[in-house]
Amino acid sequence: MTADLALFLDFDGTLVEIAPRPDAVRVDPGLVPALERLRERLGGALAIVTGRPIGVIDDFLAPARFDVAGLHGVERRVNDAVTGGRPEDHPDLRARVPRLQALVADLDAVLIEDKGASVAVHWRLANPEDAQRAEAVVKSIAAELDGPYRLQLGKAVGEIVPASATKGHAIRALLEAPPYAGRRAVFLGDDRTDELAFASVNADGGVSVRVGPGETVAPKRLADPEAVRALLYAWADGAPMDVSGLPEA
Ligand SMILES: [Mg+2]
Repeated sequence: MTADLALFLDFDGTLVEIAPRPDAVRVDPGLVPALERLRERLGGALAIVTGRPIGVIDDFLAPARFDVAGLHGVERRVNDAVTGGRPEDHPDLRARVPRLQALVADLDAVLIEDKGASVAVHWRLANPEDAQRAEAVVKSIAAELDGPYRLQLGKAVGEIVPASATKGHAIRALLEAPPYAGRRAVFLGDDRTDELAFASVNADGGVSVRVGPGETVAPKRLADPEAVRALLYAWADGAPMDVSGLPEA
């Protein structure tokens, strides 16, 4: 049973609770060892699929290094081989970053997270008025780049990402090569940005799991990151990986 699954895990809001600032998330001490055991059990077929850069995931999960599809799939690393994600491949986006920074400079508690090949504007800690203005700013810059880039709205964040980059594409690309090829995808994610990936995983015969409340196309649901960790820790310790037995969404 176990040998035919490939596990794809979102990071923020799925493996860890969302923090007020993106750099303030807390990684449960049991998480990394459990993921390492689980990866071994799955013959290596375990990857983090996230909007974060690969390097940031490495920092959070050090000293382990996992396969990662980062920046919503702009960059991928499998068995230490990295593809995509070079900032110099995105001159039109890079050219607009200084103006984006200037436009939000006078907004309280609005943060720019410059990831090189994508740029996110965070307003989780902003007052409602500044949050609205931050959203308007990122929308206007995204509109200038419409076509090669798209705006991805998440929980108190708007991010300009290459249009070709989606978590769904990233999962499909990972499934084309060992150790993922030929396995059934299981994808856990929490955000509305994960819904497109849920749809493609479902269409390919995999199983998607929505973490937390909200409308979803996923057939399965877990309540929160704590429930996700409890499941992964049990699987890491040898419990049957019975995906069909998870609660219905
Ligand atoms: Mg998430």
